[in-house]
Amino acid sequence: MTGRDDLHERYQAAHTAHRTHQATCRTCTDTSRCPAGQRQFESFARLQDAYLNRQRQRRR
Ligand SMILES: [Zn+2]
Repeated sequence: MTGRDDLHERYQAAHTAHRTHQATCRTCTDTSRCPAGQRQFESFARLQDAYLNRQRQRRR
């Protein structure tokens, strides 16, 4: 362990990438995503799950 919160950083970065993509992509909407947008959304969702799971475990 390095002590740095890599998971949180990656989660934030994925969130920013996803938001930036949605703001600039002409194909992505609230209800549908282009393949690139879908990939970004999935990696963001995966990191968010992992991060929130860890937060829950720490709280006990
Ligand atoms: Zn897109």
